[in-house]
Amino acid sequence: MEPVLFDKSLFALAALALAGCGASIPASDITARVADAQHSSDMVRFASMCEDWDDWDKPTEPFQIHGNTWYVGTCGIAAILIKGDDGAVLIDSGTNTGSEVIEANIAALGYTMRDVKALLVSHEHYDHVGGMARLQGLSGAPLWVGEGAAEVMRTGKDDPRDPQSGLHAAMAPVTGTIRAVADGEVLETAGITLTAIATPGHTSGAMSWQWESCTAGGCVTIVYGDSLSPVSADEYRFTDHPEYVAMFRRGIARLAGLECDMLITPHPSASQMPARARTGSFEGGITCPAYAASKTKALDDRLAKEAASQ
Ligand SMILES: [Zn+2]
Repeated sequence: MEPVLFDKSLFALAALALAGCGASIPASDITARVADAQHSSDMVRFASMCEDWDDWDKPTEPFQIHGNTWYVGTCGIAAILIKGDDGAVLIDSGTNTGSEVIEANIAALGYTMRDVKALLVSHEHYDHVGGMARLQGLSGAPLWVGEGAAEVMRTGKDDPRDPQSGLHAAMAPVTGTIRAVADGEVLETAGITLTAIATPGHTSGAMSWQWESCTAGGCVTIVYGDSLSPVSADEYRFTDHPEYVAMFRRGIARLAGLECDMLITPHPSASQMPARARTGSFEGGITCPAYAASKTKALDDRLAKEAASQ
């Protein structure tokens, strides 16, 4: 912890309490404030260790995003551990190499991979789920994926519908249980309830996840909003795939309409996570509708560019 991050008033409060002069300040309040300071400093440390759009496999340390929700990813690729009453769930694995960082970060929080009761997938690209086969082997937990991603996770091979088909490294096939989940499905495990939100477009199987996190200060609805950037292989033209574009727009609209107090993303910088971490809190920042609007613009810009180059 950086000394500069300590709030001197905390020590004054603690000293008063210890001296027996702080009868009006409940010990639980002091404990909560010390915990808040620790929470903020861990978050700021992430911002100091990692740069925007950092390397996929660059290690960083875990930190608490809010309540039950912990960041266990690398500098460049998010992985989220949600703690429940009876274990935890993990969203995304990073690359195969990145999954070793994630495993170590989970261990640093006092959990083992055997405590992970479900492995959730954002979208079927190597940078986010290339390490899933490895983590699935360690945990024995089922994979929960969007219907369009199940085959890619099972085979490790590209989806031919994927605009980026051919660009990504093959992944190790997942040999354990793969559960394809539908849009709006509510899933429960380890005392955690999550809602699957299908947000296709960046890939066919792209899935966002929504859950509630509570602290003494109240509850928030967190959305892990999947990538929605219209990126492709050189020869791919979205214009040639009107049904895919229509599905893409439905995916963006789905995200825009969600209850969403706090947005986090598989690429931390896509929702300004390093900048928000620098403030010591993820409250505020980019909203789901603003994120969705920026993706509509990116898709419109892409289609306009294709039209201009015809
Ligand atoms: Zn991707």
